[in-house]
Amino acid sequence: MEEVLLEWAKTIHKENPVVDAHFDLAAEVYARRRYGEKDVVERCYLSYFQEASLNVIVSSVYVPTQELPEKGLHTAIGQIAALRDDLDPITDQICIVTSKKELDTALEKGKIAMLLALEGLDPVGTDLCLLRAFYDLGVRGASLTWSRRNAFGEGCCKAGEMREIPGGLTELGREAIRKMEELGMYLDVSHLNNDGFADVLKCARKPFIASHSNAWQIHPNYRNLRNDQIEELAVRGGVIGLNACGVIAGVPPLPKKQAFSRLCEHVEYLIAQAGSEHVGFGFDLCNGLSASTPRIYFQVEEDDLLSHHGEMVMLTAELLGRGMKEETLTGILGGNFLRYFRSVIK
Ligand SMILES: [Zn+2]
Repeated sequence: MEEVLLEWAKTIHKENPVVDAHFDLAAEVYARRRYGEKDVVERCYLSYFQEASLNVIVSSVYVPTQELPEKGLHTAIGQIAALRDDLDPITDQICIVTSKKELDTALEKGKIAMLLALEGLDPVGTDLCLLRAFYDLGVRGASLTWSRRNAFGEGCCKAGEMREIPGGLTELGREAIRKMEELGMYLDVSHLNNDGFADVLKCARKPFIASHSNAWQIHPNYRNLRNDQIEELAVRGGVIGLNACGVIAGVPPLPKKQAFSRLCEHVEYLIAQAGSEHVGFGFDLCNGLSASTPRIYFQVEEDDLLSHHGEMVMLTAELLGRGMKEETLTGILGGNFLRYFRSVIK
């Protein structure tokens, strides 16, 4: 990669908001701390976050299927508590934010702001009152489902499978959207199936996002969005985050350069369909989670095309090399998701 592009990319990262809208961090921190590790984020991630000049990261709270239903609530609360414990010694550098004011203050002070989002409402079970409890624990976004059925709807099939799962939202799913909008929690449709997406269009009143999904037209995987879905999401003011998992992007093991070209194709296609103000990054990096827990336990099926967040600048350099304008790039890097989060969170 040309050195000049890389330097240009680093400068753009330093001078503009950089956001990853989906990172499976809380589950990994919980797993590691339960087995005695400490300072997980500081030791394993902080330098990579800084290399990319990241400003905002959304940590998902993801409960593996084996914990459900009995331990769903326990595990979700445990993950949030473990992440807070882990960040306590480094709150001068990275902190969980729960309001627009806290978000802005963190950014003004040069800290990384972290948002919490439930990946599937499974921990809530069927009791919507618990949504308020999670809100009070700091959760500011949620998807109704992961890639599995729950009381709120049907998920799409897992990323490694290829079959369309029919069935839309349940009445409880529709109610959950209303309750989330009332509370000031954003809705994420990544992992939702096509019928569920259509139901969201009928009942969502506020803009929603797909935090970590790519374009079906570039790679037909049921985790990805069709053209009509991309357009609808954008028209309503949402943002789509580029997913950097090989199986979702549609990349067999390839040299980095070719893998990055495929990611750029998704970004360029999403921009063409949605408009440049509705695309961002939600890389869904899972290697750390996968390495920290037995594979069979977490069912991690993805493979990261970015080895770590530090490689974001290489992707940015690749986009610059392909001719993307700097003003477009700044939105994609984080301006678009930041604008969205500031508009939804109270
Ligand atoms: Zn996911």
